Amino acid sequence: MTMQVNPHTEISTIAGRVQSTRHAFRAGVTRPIEWRRAQLQGMIAMLTEHEQEFLDALRHDLGKPTAEAFITDVAFVTGEIKAMIKNLRKWNTSVRVSSPLVTMPAKSCLMPEPLGVVLVIAPWNYPVQLLLVPAAGAIAAGNAVVLKPSEVSSAVSTLLAKLVPQYLDSEAVAIIEGGVAETTELLAQQYDHIFYTGNGTVGRVVMTAAAKNLTPVTLELGGKSPVIVDASANLRVTARRIAWGKWLNAGQTCVAPDYVLVHESVHDKLIVELQSVITDFYGTEPHESQSYARIVSPRHFDRLKTFLNGATAAVGGDSIEEDRYISPTVLINVDPASQVMHEEIFGPILPIIPITSINEAIDFVTSRPHPLALYVFAENKKAIADVLERTTAGGVTVNGTIMHLTNPGLPFGGVGESGMGGYHGKAGVRVFQHLKPVLSRGTMLDPSIAYPPYTTRKLKLFRKVL
Ligand code: NAD
Repeated sequence: MTMQVNPHTEISTIAGRVQSTRHAFRAGVTRPIEWRRAQLQGMIAMLTEHEQEFLDALRHDLGKPTAEAFITDVAFVTGEIKAMIKNLRKWNTSVRVSSPLVTMPAKSCLMPEPLGVVLVIAPWNYPVQLLLVPAAGAIAAGNAVVLKPSEVSSAVSTLLAKLVPQYLDSEAVAIIEGGVAETTELLAQQYDHIFYTGNGTVGRVVMTAAAKNLTPVTLELGGKSPVIVDASANLRVTARRIAWGKWLNAGQTCVAPDYVLVHESVHDKLIVELQSVITDFYGTEPHESQSYARIVSPRHFDRLKTFLNGATAAVGGDSIEEDRYISPTVLINVDPASQVMHEEIFGPILPIIPITSINEAIDFVTSRPHPLALYVFAENKKAIADVLERTTAGGVTVNGTIMHLTNPGLPFGGVGESGMGGYHGKAGVRVFQHLKPVLSRGTMLDPSIAYPPYTTRKLKLFRKVL
């Protein structure tokens, strides 16, 4: 396929394209349930009819193994959209609430309504999923949408820019490609909600731009997601589940285990298990494995390489620059004050730090910004309860990694430095709705007690009933 190196939209056209989506919203194009259903079905058709092109583009950008690309950037997306189609009416129907005596005769409800025009800005690591799942939620809620894929995953951006206009209504769904300059111009326009996924530095830029128009934001950010391994943990299963979550997409996952705090009594055993599971998953030469991804760009490769300088690798530590390959790497003897323990790693490097107790692990985690995800491995129920009760995180999987975000019943998002707001499942539509409170009164009864002139007798009655 033809790859565009720097996909971008002509900046002078951006304001007009955003304006067109607003016209479409005002004209009511996006409101009918049938329109919404057709767009959601269009998204599924786009993904299924061009599945191979998406898989190829994901391999081009990230060396994504086909199975990983299919699960995370195709099947997960179609699964979320199918649930939206199935529940489209239900999730857009008014919900009755009770009415107090003083309002009688009356009925009250919460009436879901779309917000208007939603801007979705996505990053490069799951470039299809992180653009289309929020976009589908916004459409299911009846909004017009402006999509901004990441320029870093350029092949996916190019493919989406080609296909979105073929499958979705261009009047109400615009796709704008580009990097900082184009996104800056996009952010100068007015929206009714901005949904941003990416790093916290740009999250602050987005929130500052949104503040000018009092536009609400959802910020899906990242950070250092810790794993706590108690002495009671099943180490074989722990190692497999950490390894799967860490080396999926070569560690370029927002909820990937960033570092491990392991009880000192099982530290060495965990390293042996990790070594063994890495060989099981990727063989003795992981760069030859068809199941292992690559680093997205030379810039990201160089950043990760600096973490390896002077570090002690118990496993891996190798790299091949021309191939943007860094092996699954486990670091030991890590200084908690070092750079690798400050920045989000966002790559296939896993520092392991011994701790003497669960309390020490809790102190370690709570003295740092709230993570997007937290993982605790233990058979001891008290250890699990202590971690759950005394730490804060966007989400948690106990005795596993990443899986909490696959449950559509659990809204996915961060807290504090790791973000604000959540989505997936019903929450993924709800985030793009205003639940308008409506109280409708009947006119058969209209007692004059509530109206002026206020008398002492009326005041006495108010004191009794209110
Ligand atoms: P990125 O570089 O692709 O940037 C994200 C988006 O911001 C892109 O569309 C980009 O064009 C835009 N952008 C970049 N600089 C900008 C600027 N100065 N002004 C306006 N827009 C700008 O991706 P990234 O930020 O490197 O993504 C990785 C980060 O995202 C990690 O921190 C990761 O944890 C986080 N992340 C979070 C989630 C989540 O769901 N919470 C998911 C994936 C990634």
